[in-house]
Amino acid sequence: MKIAEKYLWFGSGILIGGVIFGGIIINLISIGTAATGWLSFGKSPKPIFAQAADLQQLLPASPELSKKCKEILGLKEIWQPADKTNYGFRRPKDLAGGRIPNQPSLIVLHETVLPLDPTLKLFSTPHPNDTQQVSYHLVLARDGSLYRIVADKFRAYGAGWSAWGDSTIRHRGSKIPAAAGSINNVALHISLVSPADGAGNSDGHSGYSNQQYSQLAQQVLLWQLRWGIPMRRVTNHASIDRSHSRSDPRSFRWHLFDRAWQVAAKRCNVNARYSIDARSR
Ligand SMILES: [Zn+2]
Repeated sequence: MKIAEKYLWFGSGILIGGVIFGGIIINLISIGTAATGWLSFGKSPKPIFAQAADLQQLLPASPELSKKCKEILGLKEIWQPADKTNYGFRRPKDLAGGRIPNQPSLIVLHETVLPLDPTLKLFSTPHPNDTQQVSYHLVLARDGSLYRIVADKFRAYGAGWSAWGDSTIRHRGSKIPAAAGSINNVALHISLVSPADGAGNSDGHSGYSNQQYSQLAQQVLLWQLRWGIPMRRVTNHASIDRSHSRSDPRSFRWHLFDRAWQVAAKRCNVNARYSIDARSR
């Protein structure tokens, strides 16, 4: 399958690349090492994702509870690792040496547009060129199978120019225009395999399977427990995209996700503070 690249340049050198498959723009924006997001705050950086007053605080992380819940739910991952060119490490500092947020604290939902096999092949293919580097942490097949592409501790290249509210992370210092930035340094990315009628760039399609909603809800719950992420930090690519070119996952129904999440949370006896509309205390 022929891959062509689409390049957009912003300000002084931030490169954002999309990938076109057979003329169809898929929803992966690659931000490689040349445009890894982080924001220079000088010597006293403000840790925007973890402590900003206008954002809900992170909850205490409970790795043991997450592990126990995973056993209860019987959630299995199929290891399908990305090539090392397609992901990076979560950077602790910017170029000026200022500390930047790098803890997983935002869960971002996507859809693949492509079928499962070419999606997995895309990630396992070496991409020396920054503009072609793409990955998610997990891909969720139509039958509910969960493919692990990148470990949580690494930064998957799932979103290009992006922000959570007014918060974003840049790595090229304070002289870069405010327009650029990425949330990849703090994001956990999971992508739903699109239905056959979602292969194009239509506004919508027939949606996702019950198995996908069920497994997605379970995985989101496990991530919430593992990293202390409240439901208000569970979002989608369309919401965090700032390039006005991403609208995935199309035809996603939050009420179906919520219903599946409640089932999973009940099985694991999870505290309501992880649920929708829960407020931090
Ligand atoms: Zn996406």
